[in-house]
Amino acid sequence: MAEYIIKNGHVFDPVQGIKGDKKDICVKDGKIVESVGASAKVIDASGKTVMAGALDIHSHVAGPKVNAGRWYRPEDKHFDSHKKPGITRIEGGKSIPTVFKTGYEYARMGFTFVMEAAMPPLYARHVHEEIHDTPIIDEGALPVLGNNWFIMEYIKNEEIENTAAYIAWILRQTKGYGIKSVNPGGTEAWAWGLNCTTIHDPVPYFDITPGQIMTGLMKANEYLGLPHSVHVHQNDLGNPGNYKTTLETLKLAEGVTVKNAFGREQILHSTHLQFHSYKGTNWGDFESGAKEVMDYVNSNKAITMDTGNVTLDETTTMTADGPFEHHLHSLNHLKWINVDVELETAAGVVPYIYDPNISVCAKQWCIGLELALFAKDPMRCFITTDHPNAGPFTRYPRVYAWLMNKQYRDERLNTFKNADKIISATHLGGIDREITLYELAQMTRAGPAKALGLSADYGGLKAGMNADIAIYNINPDNFPSTGPEIEEAFANVAFLFKDGKICVEDGTIVDMGKKHTFWVDVNVPENKQVMHDIREKFLRYYSLTEANYPVPESYAPHQHIISVDASQ
Ligand SMILES: [Zn+2]
Repeated sequence: MAEYIIKNGHVFDPVQGIKGDKKDICVKDGKIVESVGASAKVIDASGKTVMAGALDIHSHVAGPKVNAGRWYRPEDKHFDSHKKPGITRIEGGKSIPTVFKTGYEYARMGFTFVMEAAMPPLYARHVHEEIHDTPIIDEGALPVLGNNWFIMEYIKNEEIENTAAYIAWILRQTKGYGIKSVNPGGTEAWAWGLNCTTIHDPVPYFDITPGQIMTGLMKANEYLGLPHSVHVHQNDLGNPGNYKTTLETLKLAEGVTVKNAFGREQILHSTHLQFHSYKGTNWGDFESGAKEVMDYVNSNKAITMDTGNVTLDETTTMTADGPFEHHLHSLNHLKWINVDVELETAAGVVPYIYDPNISVCAKQWCIGLELALFAKDPMRCFITTDHPNAGPFTRYPRVYAWLMNKQYRDERLNTFKNADKIISATHLGGIDREITLYELAQMTRAGPAKALGLSADYGGLKAGMNADIAIYNINPDNFPSTGPEIEEAFANVAFLFKDGKICVEDGTIVDMGKKHTFWVDVNVPENKQVMHDIREKFLRYYSLTEANYPVPESYAPHQHIISVDASQ
């Protein structure tokens, strides 16, 4: 493989504490190395910003609900579809792009890893087929387990060992990365037309509460010592007053001890916190709860979070939170899908227009930005749009511009309809902070890599780490003074290295690289009880046999397997 030396760039690397110093980065055999030979190709990065490849910790990019969105919203393709010259295929869709466009667009923005945030175990094959077809970027997927019958029964009986053994089995069957919990207990309650909007609501027929499910999942996660923590979408998403349930959920982590394998420190990752930081009692008196929520997050190292920034676009919402999607449909009366997934989960899809002239949308926009601007530890706060729920991931450059340029976001804020009412219901107008390039590298590289247990190889530029490198046309000595200039610079990298190969040059895809599927293989002691329970439930309840459940090897040809030994 070719050797490279990236010369004279301004390097931003939280792993080594480098804050924009000029430093050469050497690349050999897919890794960052201390030095290379005289024949190494020289990349002139003078006047440019050099960071590690970015990681998206939460995005919906592959699997049955994404595909359902694609086929039931053909209009999405009218917003943005094109063929660019070169080696790429046609790129279709805006909020629910094709798998090809997904890979290309992430790479053009400097991303090298994306976590698919919700994989129904029963449909894991579909998720992996789409992951395999997505070019360039590495991906993993989190199986949804917060409404799973096995899990609820084991946790109700306080059988943490059995819960853990079942999770280890699921990760191996689905080639999954970690534990996702969506509206714990509430999605199962939806099968009876009900919901769990607090962590104390009983789940019908299971004699358990969302709080118990969450505590049990966190204990099982730490029993196994998985690379990532439990990843939660809390109860009562999207409703005024929900910040109280959010705080109660986050506090559950206080009772659990982290098994500090893989360098992560958190016990709970709270996702798209924007949707969970609402004060008020109805949509009339709805206001920001970002301050209360971030005061708690700032004081507790056991929590990491991502923002879920509203981008003020038309989009397609999709979540395993079945009752929420029905609720959203009843608010906006647009078409909807709702699906039940046997013993495991549910899902819904509803289009949504975040109209800047509607005060609720404007306030949601403020709250998402406030979360990042209130964050005292950028290593525990990550930028997402919960793609496509709060907006398409292709809007990241605009979100960065709002965070990095107060004037740009104030222009937006002050031109909302009834701006004075929006300003008084939120905090954003009073915040002067502008996120720096170093903080952005923490929020999009080193931070998410650490939270995913990948910090030994990803999210930094230290010798020995994987050579995933993004070079941007940004000169920190002459930082772009306007929002649109910042946006433009982050939308198209000057260069993207993936595994030591140049995949993007001047915003053009030049190589498809070799994408990897990341999953976690846990070794646990043989558990006869759990294997018996699995056999019995497949015979009694599942619509397919146990033999047809696992994801075959051929579905994920390039695997990056992280082995965990939980048997000692
Ligand atoms: Zn999500």
